[in-house]
Amino acid sequence: MMSAPVSILPFDGKSVCLFCGSSDGANPDYVAAARAFGAETARAGWRLVYGGGGVGLMGASARGAHEAGGRVLGIMPAFLRSRERLYDEVETLVVTSMHERKTLMYDQSDAFVVAPGGVGTLEEVIELLSWKRLDLHSKPIIFLNINGFWDSLFAVMRHSVAEGMTPSSFLQAWVVCDTVEATIAALQASDVTPHLQHDPR
Ligand code: AMP
Repeated sequence: MMSAPVSILPFDGKSVCLFCGSSDGANPDYVAAARAFGAETARAGWRLVYGGGGVGLMGASARGAHEAGGRVLGIMPAFLRSRERLYDEVETLVVTSMHERKTLMYDQSDAFVVAPGGVGTLEEVIELLSWKRLDLHSKPIIFLNINGFWDSLFAVMRHSVAEGMTPSSFLQAWVVCDTVEATIAALQASDVTPHLQHDPR
């Protein structure tokens, strides 16, 4: 099915896509980090691209960026509008499907940050990693690894390398940061050029 063309406000700077949970999680550090990440991306001049929800770490990051004066682009499939409580204080696109949401999130971003999250976040990051493995993209992938949240994923990847299923070089495909400050520094140090695909389609 062809999707309707979407219209996105022009933006010439760099954009970071945040994948993170639609829940708050058990530890208040997660929401605090998401909020601080949003605010710091805004201060660093990056646009935040995210799933468009007003709940959990997603909502915290968008509010943090918006309240710090940053640009935010939320991308939400229509069927999740109420479940994920669309945060419409910022630029938000309502699209028809999860596939369209993910495609736009990828296309509109120059780098990816992965904060704690549930199975939805996990699915997104696995796709991001598998596409990198297939050389379909070379955009930086940075884990905001609050409280070692993603350590077990890294252990699975090391196991895959040890068992000969993944080349050891692939362990360099992502960067792990324990704090928001380190994540912002890694973003700033990454070699990205703003993409022209931010043009309206
Ligand atoms: P979660 O980490 O499970 O709280 O979900 C975080 C975000 O991922 C939410 O906005 C979900 O709508 C989204 N999500 C859930 N399943 C998928 C999927 N299969 N692909 C992409 N995003 C998803």
